[in-house]
Amino acid sequence: MQTKVLILVAALCSAVPAQIDLRERADWNRPVQPFRIIGNVYYVGVEGVSSFLITTPKGSILLDGGFPETAPLIEKNIAGLGFHLNEVKFLLNSHAHYDHCGGLTNLKKLSGAQMIANQADTSKAGRARKLDCTDREHSFEPATVDRTVDDGGTVRLGDTVLTAHLTPGHTPGCTTWSTEAVEHGRTYHVVFYCSTTVAGNRLLGKRARPGIVKEYEASFAKLKAMPCDVFLAPHGSFFKLDEKRAALAAGRWDAFVDPAEMARHVADSERAFHEELQRQRAGR
Ligand code: ZN
Repeated sequence: MQTKVLILVAALCSAVPAQIDLRERADWNRPVQPFRIIGNVYYVGVEGVSSFLITTPKGSILLDGGFPETAPLIEKNIAGLGFHLNEVKFLLNSHAHYDHCGGLTNLKKLSGAQMIANQADTSKAGRARKLDCTDREHSFEPATVDRTVDDGGTVRLGDTVLTAHLTPGHTPGCTTWSTEAVEHGRTYHVVFYCSTTVAGNRLLGKRARPGIVKEYEASFAKLKAMPCDVFLAPHGSFFKLDEKRAALAAGRWDAFVDPAEMARHVADSERAFHEELQRQRAGR
């Protein structure tokens, strides 16, 4: 399963969506019991793609919507926690790849929430702006973006603040979000990492996005300097979701706390990036 998931991560996180085995996609959409991670941060995603709910007394914020068919599962997970989709005021997207933004179209319709994204992950559609998120195999209408957010921009609800950190490379508008959560009397830095995998991106030559290598390098440097106690990501395999969820269920309330984890993950990703850059440079 783990290997299968990793292969699918590579396939789906490409700039140009690959042909996806529908059975594998169904595997990724296997339901997961929703749970509280830390403070007011909850996991409401499925087996292979994450979705996070951040609750406040004034409503909640939902980050990422999975595939189009993930939306009803996310809705059910939110209800399973005793919240309701129409309490969601803001929808955020880590990056405009269809395994993370596919479900946002319906979640936006059902919640009436405001969709917020970085402009570089959107495209103009008449007078509107939509998430730049397409699926070659299944046509669907990407969500309309109501508000764009730049690097350092914030989303506030009640006394919760989420800060946008532009970490481009994987997509041009790839946005890592951060917030603070309080648990057992302590405040923890929670980071919702976007992604820094190369996947199918061309890094060199005419087909490469101009400046893409510099984008990745700046994102690695930025992420390594960010304080992070709780590392969360768009795919559970990036942050050992299964293992930590089991530890949490067994009574370890701080199962998701690891101040060294993001630096480790980003260093590994940076190494993989340079290997891929070398590979592409050698024309292999
Ligand atoms: Zn991706």
